[in-house]
Amino acid sequence: MNVHEYQAKQLMREFNISTLNGKVAKTVDEAVAAAKELGGNVWVVKAQIHAGGRGKAGGVKLAKSLDEVKAHAKDILGKTLVTHQTGPEGKKVLTLLVEEGCEIEHEYYAGLVLDRNTGRVTFMASIEGGVEIETVAEETPEKIIKVAVDPAAGFTPFIGRKLAYGIGLKDKELVKKAANFFGGLYKLYMEKDCTIAEINPLVLTKGGDILALDGKLNFDANALFRHPEIEALRDPTEESAKELEADKFGLSYIELDGNIGCLVNGAGLAMGTLDIISLFGGKPANFLDVGGGATKETVEKAFSIILQDENVKAILVNIFGGIMKCDIIAEGVLAAAKSLSLKVPLIVRLEGTNVALGKKILNESDLDIIAADDLADAASKVVEAAKKGEA
Ligand code: GDP
Ligand code: MN
Repeated sequence: MNVHEYQAKQLMREFNISTLNGKVAKTVDEAVAAAKELGGNVWVVKAQIHAGGRGKAGGVKLAKSLDEVKAHAKDILGKTLVTHQTGPEGKKVLTLLVEEGCEIEHEYYAGLVLDRNTGRVTFMASIEGGVEIETVAEETPEKIIKVAVDPAAGFTPFIGRKLAYGIGLKDKELVKKAANFFGGLYKLYMEKDCTIAEINPLVLTKGGDILALDGKLNFDANALFRHPEIEALRDPTEESAKELEADKFGLSYIELDGNIGCLVNGAGLAMGTLDIISLFGGKPANFLDVGGGATKETVEKAFSIILQDENVKAILVNIFGGIMKCDIIAEGVLAAAKSLSLKVPLIVRLEGTNVALGKKILNESDLDIIAADDLADAASKVVEAAKKGEA
């Protein structure tokens, strides 16, 4: 789960990670009032969306007067920002963060991720941070240092110093400040079950402070049950309405950009189904795992969610009845097809418990269902049907 920069910074402050003072604004007037309250004579108006690359897309602007704050807020609020992380459709800005400005001496990069190869939480840091970090990673990867944390020892002062020296700091006081910063970030990452913590840029100010100018935190969705305070930061406007609705019914649904709707039980089978559709030259419109314990009602719900996607030209139901019985699925399919007056071709492949009964229910219905014998047969039939639908 993702949160906004202003929320990430609130959390960081709880872990003694220095940030600038800022205030959230939803309107232009609020933005101006925020700047007034913060005081000073330089502010930064920042778009709050769940994506990076805002600076380059015009979503981060420096203001040197309240009039400029007003002008920038007007410009950014309501705008759809397209960055390298939003996809071509972009993201609409509904919230701003107005921050006090600072004089930057240097921009560094700091990140924490779980390295799955080593199984260790690993710091990445670079002397060259800021909006060009992708170029640094591509052209001069040696400028990004990596330091893994031994899970038994945890964060040690040694790691902090290694990182600080690694990004080129020499002054004793600064090394100490940076080491504390990294320690705080590690503590936050572990205690809040993050999957990513990224500070880009981490800055050294002209006044000699080390602080987080930007902050991106990502949380492990499987650990949210023990962090209601993080769950409360969820912004539904940033998430797909269909995915949220599916979640309420215990369905795992991920929207994709193809035209073949998939209704499958089990994540592994769902992945396999996407693969085989691609192998036969088709493009899946979604990943959908209805789970092991689905009922007639959840199957109906699953259909209605798939059908909300106008790109869907054919649907493949691929069920292996283990815990879930094929006849229950068949009844769910029938109920859904009737109540939603299904118009796209439906290809069904059933296997497993009560398969004969399931097939009988489908065959005896007056629905136009294309039965498939096995997965390859199902994939070739659904790809063909989707092609006809596009024609
Ligand atoms: P991102 O592009 O989405 O990663 O947004 P950032 O928050 O990283 O902002 C992009 C760039 O704006 C930073 O790399 C800084 O160069 C600049 N910036 C952000 N905040 C400030 C600030 O308070 N003062 C100054 N001078 N520049 C800032
Ligand atoms: Mn950034």
